[in-house]
Amino acid sequence: MGRFDRLLAWFALLMGLCAAAPANAAGIAPACHAFSSDSVTYAELAARPAEWICRSTHWKAELPVGWLRFDARDWRGHMTPVTFVTRITKFDRMTVLVVRQHGSAEAFEYGPADVTPRAGRSVFSVDLPPLPDDTSAVVVRFERAWNAAVLSDASLSDDPDGGAWPAAMLGAMGILIGLLFAPVIFDCAIYSVLRQRFVLWHGALVLAMMVYVLSFSGMISVFFDLRIETIAALNGLAPALAVAAAGFFVVEFLEPGALSRRMRRAVVATSLLALAVCGTVTVHPPFLDYTSHQFYFLGFLPALLVHTAALVQAHRRRSRSVKFMIVAWAPVILCGAERIVRGLGLYGAPPLIDELLYIALIAEVVISALGVADRMISLRDQRDIARSQARILGDLAEHDPLTGLLNRRAIEPRFGELCNAGFGAFALIDLDHFKSINDLHGHAVGDDVLRAVATGLAPDDDTLVMRFGGEEFLLLLRGAEARNRAEQRRQSLSRHIAGRVPGLDRIVTASMGLIEGPPEAMAASGFQEIYARADKLLYEAKQAGRNRMFAEKLTLFAAPLDERRAGERRRSDRRQTAPFRPSGTDPRSPA
Ligand code: GH3
Ligand code: MG
Ligand code: MG
Repeated sequence: MGRFDRLLAWFALLMGLCAAAPANAAGIAPACHAFSSDSVTYAELAARPAEWICRSTHWKAELPVGWLRFDARDWRGHMTPVTFVTRITKFDRMTVLVVRQHGSAEAFEYGPADVTPRAGRSVFSVDLPPLPDDTSAVVVRFERAWNAAVLSDASLSDDPDGGAWPAAMLGAMGILIGLLFAPVIFDCAIYSVLRQRFVLWHGALVLAMMVYVLSFSGMISVFFDLRIETIAALNGLAPALAVAAAGFFVVEFLEPGALSRRMRRAVVATSLLALAVCGTVTVHPPFLDYTSHQFYFLGFLPALLVHTAALVQAHRRRSRSVKFMIVAWAPVILCGAERIVRGLGLYGAPPLIDELLYIALIAEVVISALGVADRMISLRDQRDIARSQARILGDLAEHDPLTGLLNRRAIEPRFGELCNAGFGAFALIDLDHFKSINDLHGHAVGDDVLRAVATGLAPDDDTLVMRFGGEEFLLLLRGAEARNRAEQRRQSLSRHIAGRVPGLDRIVTASMGLIEGPPEAMAASGFQEIYARADKLLYEAKQAGRNRMFAEKLTLFAAPLDERRAGERRRSDRRQTAPFRPSGTDPRSPA
């Protein structure tokens, strides 16, 4: 069983445990609900049966007052309700009416400060007045409730603690919240060694989730005496922060090339949008009222869709790290989608669904931490290869005497190792009409131009520069924006040469053919093949008028090959799909 399969098995076990977790003692759900303006009384509404909705749908309306009717025949004979329980949200006022069989009703009013948040679930409860024997219904009226779930999640309970979890469950919850701390400490430790930013985003993500679990579970009211508005605000802000951190995490965490540049931008943009929209709605600025709460849920929608699309894209591109993220995020994304649909008031759901979210969040934290560890290991391996590579390159005697650059003999036999060290862009550069410089200014000036090219191409740790004989140069690049970095170097050559070699009759330009792809695919194709393709692009660039780049992208994302079977795999790769799938040539107009 592979590491990934084992992970899946653990995950299935976790979800199984979660499904087996005890549901809360079922309460009495409202028989019907209705909406009205402020001035309508219960007597008026009761006289209009057509206005009552007696299904678990349409929980949201533009009208400011929501009504719930619990019919006594639903509980008579098998239980006696003593509390009213519902989802924590911001509201102006609630009224409980006890309606008697002869039609009279007694009203009890509560403000947000009169209700009790309950530990274990994101609910508050109020104690019901004693219900006389001839009670026909309990009606609850909410004024300006922000979240439709205050109606759809409401119930009457015979539990005096209003559905709070028993001490043992709370203890377990406390342990789970404590467990969430472990990845934060782990992230700090890892960041101190390998300074990868995604580790910090992971830490931020876990912290936001911890705040969410603390507030949403009501555990926070075990430690602090908070009003339900404060809890509602934390419930609202924490997921927005978590989604934003998740977005930044995903773009930094996945291997380079696993996401297209456009996808990375979309992930960041939708993450910031979710934070801005949901953050704004949560802090209840004066220009928004209770009807704007649906924007809170809609604000998450683009991020939810784009993050999902990003996972799919990375998976298509054979990213290894994304497998961890898919297992970690799929349950959270599903729970999130469910919450959005419920938050928009489209349907009501049993409270068990909320408890699933805790399990999903904890699974996400644990699995994504495993993913981070896995990625750190492969990054460390890459770094070690890069270091040994740097040593090899440092020792090389194969330098070009004119420019001091590496030459072809230095690179070709080590091409596979360099690819494994992350070099995934191969750019062949050739000066335009170089012969005329020799002809006009002499060979010595031509040599000066070649030396100027060598410094102008600016080798660094992530950019190897070679002279390939004559006036042809090779750039091997790794890291972000490789194509742009190569193109910038090509374009800057003209000015650089003009600065170094005065007195030339014209601006010296260069043409470039560039192959860019996942390093694994470059290695699998081999030096000869990549060189031939780049040379062909270079030739096309010359034909198209010189002073431009033609580029091609390798979309094959081949997994690192097992040494023993490398030859075999390479052949089969070629048979199934051509290793090169041109994404279109990309002529750039002359600078
Ligand atoms: P194109 O734009 O098609 O590349 O035209 P070009 O003139 O640059 O290409 P061509 O291949 O016809 O000419 C390359 C010239 O480079 C021919 C040769 O004299 C010159 N050359 C090759 N090696 C050196 C060198 O080490 N020093 C100098 N000064 N010139 C060299
Ligand atoms: Mg030339
Ligand atoms: Mg040439």
